Amino acid sequence: MPLLSSDCQSVMTMGTGLQGQVVGRFHCQRCGWCCHNQLIRVFTVEIQAILAFLRRQPEEAFEDHISACLAYEGHLRPYEYLYHQRLAVVRGFFRPYEVECLEGDLLGVKTHVITLLPETRRCVFYNPLLSTCFIYPARPLTCRLFPFEVKDSRLVMISEDDPCPGIGQGAPVNFRRHQRLSRMCQHLVQQEEELFHAFVHEQGLRIQPHTPSLSFDARTLIDPFVERGLIPNVLHQGGLRLTRGQQ
Ligand code: SF4
Ligand code: SF4
Repeated sequence: MPLLSSDCQSVMTMGTGLQGQVVGRFHCQRCGWCCHNQLIRVFTVEIQAILAFLRRQPEEAFEDHISACLAYEGHLRPYEYLYHQRLAVVRGFFRPYEVECLEGDLLGVKTHVITLLPETRRCVFYNPLLSTCFIYPARPLTCRLFPFEVKDSRLVMISEDDPCPGIGQGAPVNFRRHQRLSRMCQHLVQQEEELFHAFVHEQGLRIQPHTPSLSFDARTLIDPFVERGLIPNVLHQGGLRLTRGQQ
């Protein structure tokens, strides 16, 4: 059952004080819409958990997932090249999203998101044949909260206009569960903010007041989470440099 948040910012700006809110009814219809075209934030601990989950999966599980995706996309057999290309994307499933402009020509990564396949804008973990999530037990909090988000310290539906057909269906949501997930998100947001700023401070860098239009390819990108060994560097391919000073 795919569930996720549609807006990275909503998770990053959430607050507390959610008691007593009425948050509506929801029952997932398993349409898969929310696993497409979304920004799915992943915190470092979630990245670690997903990596551990992936390590436990047998090779056949990857074969089944990728074969289904390639077949759905019109490839009648899992071509060797496409398979290994997709396998690399699945194993290296996260990428920088939010970056802060630092001194000079440096950028610092603050937020990661799950990779969307460029052709279909579909989450790399979504199986369109079975409407399932490859990492369901380890899916991010963002996915677990959807279609709810926290705005101005209130837990609300993502949007009344959201095309999610599960909104308004079924029984009232388990508010306590969502409240707990919201608080976990808020805690992780604070933790990652602190880690980022501590790293910048330790490195003797300064955050620039204005953020210009950014191009990952054109600049040197520092990933504090990679540099501290919290997550591996999965973007060494494709021209991205994630460590300051590397050429
Ligand atoms: S019903 Fe809503 S939550 Fe369920 S898969 Fe569809 S869009 Fe996602
Ligand atoms: S991680 Fe799973 S639930 Fe979340 S968007 Fe991807 S396929 Fe959907």
